[in-house]
Amino acid sequence: MADAAPAFAHRHLLGIEQLAPADVTAVLDLAEDYVALNRGRDKKRATLRGLTQINLFFENSTRTQASFEIAGKRLGADVMNMSVRTSSMSKGETLLDTAATLNAMHPDLIVVRHQHSGAVALLSAKVDAAVINAGDGRHEHPTQALLDALTIRRRKGRLHRLTVAICGDVAHSRVARSNMILLGMMENRVRVVAPPTLLPPDIDRYGVEVFHDMEKGIEGADVVMMLRLQQERMEGAFVPSQREYFHRWGLDQQKLAHAAPDAIVMHPGPMNRGVEIDALVADDPARSVIGEQVEMGVAVRMAVLELLAGARERG
Ligand code: ASP
Repeated sequence: MADAAPAFAHRHLLGIEQLAPADVTAVLDLAEDYVALNRGRDKKRATLRGLTQINLFFENSTRTQASFEIAGKRLGADVMNMSVRTSSMSKGETLLDTAATLNAMHPDLIVVRHQHSGAVALLSAKVDAAVINAGDGRHEHPTQALLDALTIRRRKGRLHRLTVAICGDVAHSRVARSNMILLGMMENRVRVVAPPTLLPPDIDRYGVEVFHDMEKGIEGADVVMMLRLQQERMEGAFVPSQREYFHRWGLDQQKLAHAAPDAIVMHPGPMNRGVEIDALVADDPARSVIGEQVEMGVAVRMAVLELLAGARERG
């Protein structure tokens, strides 16, 4: 598979913003091979043998960290997980000191999650390794948008001319931001559906349609993407109460009936059942592709790791 890898002329993956449509297609096409590999018995390749991958997580993560760890290990890399609680950062070391310390250990790939927008780009300028953004503040979460794109492409047979409704807490969501950029770039009709308090002030720059009513916003949509209500990023009251939020903005079967009859429902996780999504919708095998998103995540991350390692070798 390594020999067949298409050119991907990026040193790091910091955001979808830096990618062209051909880059997105290159990642998704390569990831398709890994979907097949991951469903087989022997899931191991030697593509990254000899390389060291550090997963540096300053913010909590369950699925993303596990997904990157499995992805690196399946490709034969030595993977080391570093979380902020066990690092010198809690002793006051700065981000850039940490970067310099890690750099001296010659890692080849560093996967970083950080609570501040822009921190991952800052770190990437100080290390020799290829850096992958695993989520920085409210800014971007590029591998989430790529795995969402792969899920949509497989389910809908294409990744263009679809109506996608991104619903809920857009303001605090790096997932929404990366998805708005990616889906817009691939020529889809993107809608955001949210109360005015949960929209970012710069929403106009994404070329999306804005709706303040769930039923109207998801009317005829091919894809309904729900977002977690990110209370940990809120200072003050953005929504009246969780009960009221669910009533107006939570996706239940009644509201979903307004989408296209074959619409799929997505959620990046972790889910707040009964807040932004009803359990009956989340668990409906005819509609929900939430488990598939997790599966696609490993394949997409394997593809990204391989492409960045390849680009690094080519210099
Ligand atoms: N897991 C995603 C993220 O890290 C979505 C979320 O936390 O709601 O951004």
